[in-house]
Amino acid sequence: MQINDGKNVLGPNGEVEVEVEKASMKAKFEADELHKLNGGNGLLKCYYCEKGGNSFQTNSEIGYHKHGSSKHPNKSLYPNLATIEKYSLRLQGKDWEV
Ligand SMILES: [Zn+2]
Repeated sequence: MQINDGKNVLGPNGEVEVEVEKASMKAKFEADELHKLNGGNGLLKCYYCEKGGNSFQTNSEIGYHKHGSSKHPNKSLYPNLATIEKYSLRLQGKDWEV
């Protein structure tokens, strides 16, 4: 799921301001929901293992870093959107996926 950050809400003719405001609030709400669903509990899931059909998840940031540096050297543990697209990773609704 892509998060609409509100950049695309203006149509070619330009909607009225209140519509834009509403749309961006909706986008924020959805982002918050996604965040709660996936990231709000502090659970860190390995993007690269998930892609390979495995699963690694931890509540420990240290454990996540250890896993990343031993299993996925030179890969970002906090991939931005460009990296996510580059490796066809799955969005998790994390703050760094921008
Ligand atoms: Zn992994």
